Parts: sequence; C-alpha cells; structure tokens
Amino acid sequence: MYKAIVIRLFPTKTQAKLFWQNAGTARWTWNWGLALQKKSYSETGKILNINALKRKFTEIRNSEEFKWLQEVSRQVEANALIDLNKAYTNFYQKLKKGERGGLPKFKSKGKSIPSFCTRSERVRVYEKNLLSLKKIGRVRFKAEENLENVKFYNARVKFEGGKWLLKCAVEVLPKKSAIILRGVKMGIDVGVKSLAVVSCGRRKRVFKNINRTHEMGRLNKQLKHHKKNLSRKKKGSKNYLKEKYKVQNIYGRIKRKRHEYIQQTARKIVNMRPKVIVLEDLNIQGMMKNRHLARAIAEQNLYLLRMLIERKAKDFGIKIKLADRFFPSSKRCSNCGHVKKDLKLSERIYKCPECGKVIDRDFNAALNLERLAY
Ligand SMILES: [Zn+2]
Repeated sequence: MYKAIVIRLFPTKTQAKLFWQNAGTARWTWNWGLALQKKSYSETGKILNINALKRKFTEIRNSEEFKWLQEVSRQVEANALIDLNKAYTNFYQKLKKGERGGLPKFKSKGKSIPSFCTRSERVRVYEKNLLSLKKIGRVRFKAEENLENVKFYNARVKFEGGKWLLKCAVEVLPKKSAIILRGVKMGIDVGVKSLAVVSCGRRKRVFKNINRTHEMGRLNKQLKHHKKNLSRKKKGSKNYLKEKYKVQNIYGRIKRKRHEYIQQTARKIVNMRPKVIVLEDLNIQGMMKNRHLARAIAEQNLYLLRMLIERKAKDFGIKIKLADRFFPSSKRCSNCGHVKKDLKLSERIYKCPECGKVIDRDFNAALNLERLAY
C-alpha cells in the first residue's frame, strides 16, 4: 500500500546550505534543458528525446567551465531533466486531445518553489528522529506517520512556506511476525561422530553425521567405483568423458545432500526457540591440522552450520554465547563439576570417577555448554 506523505525537515545551517545548492542546481539544469529544447525546436521543429538531453548534459557536466555541477548528486540533475521531459510530454498529450496546456517555463529564482529530487533508496530513518539523505547526511525530522519499516519512493525536498519538507510516497512493508522464544537455554556440541548433540532445557537431541548414513555410504561407493573406472580410460576419449560426467554428477549429489542437511539441521535447532544458544568457540583451524580429523570436519561443514545457526538465531532474536576455547566442556562432569584431565578421544561414554555418573560424552558436553548460559 502506497501513501503520499510530507515530512518536516530541520536541517542544520550547513545542511540548509546544501539544500539551497541542490535546489539551485536543479533549477539551473531545468533552465539549461529548456533553453536547449527551445533552440532545438526552432532549428529542427523537434525537441530532443530524454537520452539525447542527458547525453548533452553529461558533456557539459564533465567540462571545465561547469565543473561546479559535479558538487551535487548526479541524480538531482538527471531528475530535473526528467521533470522537464514530463512537462513536455504532458503538453503534447494535451495538444493531441485538443486541450490547452502551457509549455514548460523557465524557473525564476524568486517565483519558483526551490526543490530537488533525492535518491529514495537512500532515505533511511534512524532513531531520535533522524533520517539520512544522499550526499547530505543525517537530518532531523518530524513526521505524523510512523516511519518504521517503510520504503520510500519519489522523494523530493522542497522549500515551502519557509519550511523545508520531504515529500514522498511510502510503502508500508508487512511486519515480520514476532517470534516468541521459550524460557529454555541450549548448549550445542558439534563434532565428528554426530554432527551436533543438543541439550535444550537439559533434554537431549542428536543430529547424526549424514556422512555415516547408509545412503551416503552407497553414493560414496559409487563414486569410488566410477573414479576407478575413470582412471582406466584413455584421457580425452569418449568413454573417458562419459565416466568423468558420472563422477562429477555423483560428487555434486553428495555435496548437495550434505548442504541440504546442514541447512535443515540449523533450521531445526533454531526452531526449538531457546532464549540463548551456547556454542563452543571451536578451534577449527587447529583441528584441521590433525589429518584424521580434517577430512571429517570438512565433510561435516561445521563452519557452515555455525554460520547458519548464528544467522537464523539473529533473525529470531536469540542470543548467541560462545564458550571460551579452553572451557573443558568434554572433560567436566555435568553432574558434579569434576574435571577428568585424562579423557581420551576414544571414550564415547563419560564415567565420572567422583560421583559415578555415566553419560554419553557429547551430551555431557552439551549440558555443560547449556549451563554456561545461566
Ligand atoms: Zn561427576
């Protein structure tokens, strides 16, 4: 829905000076264009089209003599020429219908209303009644309407009745429905065995490692098979290309499946709508140095998962907290807090020597991370 509105502007002295300069240049450009059209009409019986007019203007704008034209935004001048073109079009249309209409007139300094166009896409509203205009900066304003979440069109600054006004059309954009977060907090342990083990309000949820599924295994087997075939074919031969396409095809399918799965997982995690999510500040680069882990991590797309969770959480208004890299999320007992210094990577079950707690290693880490949110 569009609506025409008027916004009162309160420029500073410097900004008002810029307003006058813009309006003056717009008026000068209109008059320059009009003189050119009159000349063209008297010489050829025709006026120039808008593109020819703009081209001629660019020529003088780039010349030494009219260098001052470059001090204002190009848009201001282009719009003055577009306005002039519209005035001519209206005139000719009325003439066709047999109505009387006036030819465009020169704008005199005293009589015409000082005005200029500004880039609507660049009008932005800030807090404390400030809005920014291109090449002008932030200007104080007052408006009757709520300008939150609107898009501006045809923005024009005018000096009327001793006041600077911004006249424009606005489109009210539909509001994103507010997402209601639950009271729970969440810890996420990402890894190689499972993609992610989540503790949300101390409840466990596991997102498997898709690379270990039966389907992926099948695809990987196919890939291996065709790669082997490919190595046996003569390079550049018809059969070589055939195999090459097959390999590329399977590889693409694997990649897409992984990618989709990561997207899906990030969505599912954020859709649990916790208030806070605690993630490990993973030293992925460090882990990548371990050759055995590197491939698994790259295949798991842990970077992407992390990025997607953070981005979606931001949309929902969920806070993200990062655990310190040295936080012993795996080594600490989530029940009594004991830190087991010699925990091996192969120990998939955490057995606490202090309190006797027996718990899945990754879930233990997720619980510890969740607790950091409190
Ligand atoms: Zn314990």
